[in-house]
Amino acid sequence: MAASMCDVFSFCVGVAGRARVAVEVRFVSSAKGKGLFATQPIQKGETIFIERPLVAAQFLWNALYRYRGEHISPTPEGCWAQQPLRMEETCDHCLRALEKAEENAQRLTGKPGQVLPHPELCTVRKDLHQNCPHCQVTYCSTECLLAAAEQYHRVLCPGPSQDDPLHPLNKLQEAWRSVHYPPETASIMLMARMVATVKQAKDKDRWIRLFSQFCNKTANEEEEIVHKLLGDKFKGQLELLRRLFTEALYEEALSQWFTPDGFRSLFALVGTNGQGIGTSSLSQWVHACDALELKPQDREQLDAFIDQLYKDIETATGEFLNCEGSGLFVLQSCCNHSCVPNAETSFPENNFLLHVTALEDIKPGEEICISYLDCCQRERSRHSRHKILRENYLFVCSCPKCLAEADEPNMTSEEEDDEEDEEGEPEDAELGDEMTDV
Ligand SMILES: [Zn+2]
Ligand SMILES: [Zn+2]
Ligand SMILES: [Zn+2]
Repeated sequence: MAASMCDVFSFCVGVAGRARVAVEVRFVSSAKGKGLFATQPIQKGETIFIERPLVAAQFLWNALYRYRGEHISPTPEGCWAQQPLRMEETCDHCLRALEKAEENAQRLTGKPGQVLPHPELCTVRKDLHQNCPHCQVTYCSTECLLAAAEQYHRVLCPGPSQDDPLHPLNKLQEAWRSVHYPPETASIMLMARMVATVKQAKDKDRWIRLFSQFCNKTANEEEEIVHKLLGDKFKGQLELLRRLFTEALYEEALSQWFTPDGFRSLFALVGTNGQGIGTSSLSQWVHACDALELKPQDREQLDAFIDQLYKDIETATGEFLNCEGSGLFVLQSCCNHSCVPNAETSFPENNFLLHVTALEDIKPGEEICISYLDCCQRERSRHSRHKILRENYLFVCSCPKCLAEADEPNMTSEEEDDEEDEEGEPEDAELGDEMTDV
């Protein structure tokens, strides 16, 4: 059953200067499904909409690492010894980074004495942080503590059993970590929060309708996705996760999600629709610096300082990619992909609020497209772009760039593709959208 259009917009939060969102959802074709279209002129750089997720969750490896503060041994996917440096504690509800921008800079540059100018631009308020009184999980504010409790945390709170390995939720999370190594691209806890949300909801049907809004795949397509996420032994692993998931969370109103077919569908839904969420108090501080009105000389100085800071971070930490977790966004999920997108997604508020911003002027009636590929992947040949999209999202791109390049046989050689395969890029690196705009 499709959700009503009203539901599709119900997680949008206001955009300054607009009475309502300047987009509508239309059915495009049976191949493409839905698409998002402008209803009013939108200018380059304008925020098209801001949306909060139906559910979001931190990646489990991140959460475990922060909590125990210990090293994770190298995984079959390769060593990730540098990962700990970018671990940052986040709000369990909105994924807001809880570290001050300056502390963040100190940790990432490895310079304990690093000082940031304009400290007032950092919005992290440690005095507002709260812990769940039962399980001690941390929130950025009373609002998040209450919102989590209201939506799903009453069901999921382990209480004093937070460390008990025999608690059903801990067994589930442990099983997940043992089958899904970093880089993490989906989270079993996102699925747990979906179930808990329905369990706690007064209007269960509304939530079930909302979750059913995300595109449905055929059984074969779902298997491909699960295979991609869990590897060759996926069938046995999926069954193990289903058993533990059922033990921890069974809900009569959702009995179909706990059947082998239903669980596979749920898993595929999270795998293809989960949007990576990257939060960082430092990048928010940088955005705020960019927005400052300064004398040309001061501007130059501040820009040079920030450039140097990023250089130092790169030297000390390597790539600064802050992906903390993932979420399900109902309106954004209606946005189709293009290799030449006219809009992009970002998380400039240092929390799970997704901003979709125009990359060029968009006329009424024009489709709004984002790219599911990061900028490096977008520069690749049509052949390898298609390979990534097919494997991770199961569709064949027919955007203007792909159509134009279809006539250029040189651009699509098999050789290039083989070469790229041998580069040995991390398995799941392509799954999420670009995580950060730092
Ligand atoms: Zn929060
Ligand atoms: Zn709790
Ligand atoms: Zn394309």
